[in-house]
Amino acid sequence: MKKNTFNFNYKYNRDREKAVDKAILFIKKCPYKGTAIKIELEAFLGRYNPGARTCSSCSGRMETICKCEGLIKDCVTCDGRGYIVCVPCDGKGQIIVQGKKRDDAYCQRFILDHVSKKARDHLIFSKTYADGDTEFTFTLPIQYVRDAIEFIKAFNLLAEDIGGGMLTNGSGMHIAILNSPTGVYPGGGNHLDSRRYKNFVKSMTHLMPALFFLASPDDKSRALGYRQPKISSDKYSAINAGHKIFEYRVFETCYQRPEAILDNLCVIANTLKYYSYRYQKHSFFNKIGEFGFEDGYGLDRFFKNEIQYRALMAGIRVLKPSYKTIAQLKRERNYDLNLAKIRERDALKDTLYAKEFHAERKSVAELKEYYKAEYKEGVKENPTLKQSYPTSISYVKACIPELSILKEGKDQYINKKKKLALRNVSKVINI
Ligand SMILES: [Zn+2]
Ligand SMILES: [Zn+2]
Repeated sequence: MKKNTFNFNYKYNRDREKAVDKAILFIKKCPYKGTAIKIELEAFLGRYNPGARTCSSCSGRMETICKCEGLIKDCVTCDGRGYIVCVPCDGKGQIIVQGKKRDDAYCQRFILDHVSKKARDHLIFSKTYADGDTEFTFTLPIQYVRDAIEFIKAFNLLAEDIGGGMLTNGSGMHIAILNSPTGVYPGGGNHLDSRRYKNFVKSMTHLMPALFFLASPDDKSRALGYRQPKISSDKYSAINAGHKIFEYRVFETCYQRPEAILDNLCVIANTLKYYSYRYQKHSFFNKIGEFGFEDGYGLDRFFKNEIQYRALMAGIRVLKPSYKTIAQLKRERNYDLNLAKIRERDALKDTLYAKEFHAERKSVAELKEYYKAEYKEGVKENPTLKQSYPTSISYVKACIPELSILKEGKDQYINKKKKLALRNVSKVINI
C-alpha cells in the first residue's frame, strides 16, 4: 500500500467515542429510526476533461474581501485596501487540475483496495462515477459510521494517485440518514411522519445559522445555490426531504480532517431530536431578529453583525458535538469574532456611514441650490420648461434622485447602508 502523505491527525478521544456511540444509539432508537448513513464524496481530480477551473473563492476576480471589510485604514492584512490577493488560487483567478486518465472502474477498485477488509465488508452500497469529475458514494450501517473515515482517507489517496491535485471549493459532502430496514436509497421503505416533519422544519429553521457553521470543518463555506438554507422537498435545500429521508446537503467536504465526519454525525443526531410529535421550542426562537444568508464564499460571511452572531451562539449550544467547546469550534474554523469585536466594527461602520451621510447631504443641498438657480434662468429663456415642471422644486426633484436624503435622518441612512452592505442575500429567516 502506498504511504499516506496526508497529515490526518486522528487522535483517540474518549469523550468523542462515547458521544459517537450515544449519537448512533439515538439515531437508531429515535422516532426517525435511522438504519444507515449514505455519504457522497466529490472533488475535481482532473482525471478526465482536465484543465483550468474558475476559482470559486474569488469567482475569478483574483482578489477577495479582507476581513476588515475596508473599515480599518491601517489594516496590516490589506494595507487599508479592503481587498487581499485570493489565497486558494494565489491571485490567478483560476486553478489548474490535470491528472492521469483513470476510469471509474479503476477508481472504485483503488478505493476498495485502500480500506480495511472490515470496512469493505460493512458496505451496503458503493459506487464511483463521473459527475463533474469524481464522485464516490457509499452506504454503511449506521453503527459502522467510523468506517467512513477510512473511505475518506482512501479518496484522498486516490487523488494523490491521479496526481493532478484536488479542487474542492465548489464541492460539498451530502450525507443522508436512511431509515429503511436494509438501508437502501431512495424508496424501498424510507419514510417520514408528516407531523414530526412539520415540527422538525419549524425548529430547525431557527437553528439554520448554527447548522451552516457546524457544517464546515474549516473556514470554507461554498455558495448556496445547491443548498438553500431551508428544509424542504426541493432538491437544493440544506436539508432535502424529497426522498422521504433527510439528506443533509449542507455539509462541506472534510478531506483534510476525515474524522470531522464523526462531528457531523453528532450534529445530525442533535438535529433529529426535533423530529418529534412535540414541537420543541427554545426560548430564543423568534427573539433574535432577521438573519440574511449572504451568498458567496467563506464561512465568516454569515456571521458579521450582532444579530448573526447571536443566532450562531444560541443555536451552536444545542447542535454542537458535546466533546468540543465553542472556542475550539471557532478556532477550527478560523473565526475570531466575538460580541465585543463585532460591536467595535459596528461602531466603526456607524462612524463611516455617518461621515458619508453628512458629506452626501451637503453635496445634495448644494446641488439643490444649483438647479433652483438653473430653473429660474431656464424659464425666462424657454417657456416650455414651465409646462413640464410647474415649480422649481419639481424640476429639482427630477434632476436629483437622491433628494430625499435632505429629509432622511442619519439613523435611517445608516440602517439603509447596512442592509445594502449585505450583498446577495439569498434568504432571510426570522431567528
Ligand atoms: Zn481565487
Ligand atoms: Zn484589511
